[in-house]
Amino acid sequence: MSLSLQSVSRIGVRTETQIKDVILTCPECGQMSMIRIKDDCKLLDGTLIPNLERWQCSSCKADFFDVEAMRVIEDCLGIA
Ligand SMILES: [Zn+2]
Repeated sequence: MSLSLQSVSRIGVRTETQIKDVILTCPECGQMSMIRIKDDCKLLDGTLIPNLERWQCSSCKADFFDVEAMRVIEDCLGIA
């Protein structure tokens, strides 16, 4: 994952659109139905992260966390 992001960042100005396209396509179901949401998020281990801004597929309801969201989660878990 980090390797592919690195190679994308070397390409230049157009990458922002490419990254957005990648994010908007759900890796779980392949639908172009990723939306930005912000609400309480329950993690797999039962931890509740309040008001977490993240991506969610409006088709299969899978949650996806970007770097910002991961930072908030790590804060809540006390990892950071
Ligand atoms: Zn999906």
